[in-house]
Amino acid sequence: MNFAGHTHQKQHSKMVRAVLRNMADQLELPYQEIHRRFTRGDDYAIALRFWDLFYQHYPVHQALNDVSYCAGCRSFTLEIL
Ligand SMILES: [Zn+2]
Repeated sequence: MNFAGHTHQKQHSKMVRAVLRNMADQLELPYQEIHRRFTRGDDYAIALRFWDLFYQHYPVHQALNDVSYCAGCRSFTLEIL
């Protein structure tokens, strides 16, 4: 994806969305609501649950500990802070 001259790793968004989809199933809430609460960034319970689930899904990526959302591209970026 490309917006305003920058790019994102598609794989990151795929990984994040898979976890958010799983969380929506677990909480029996619509995916869009989970996505909105997560990307707003002020829902501590959702953020905590996200990282718990993320490490269950991707134990090989224990080092990753930050996620940001680019609203322009609707893309997630995972990083090590
Ligand atoms: Zn972007």
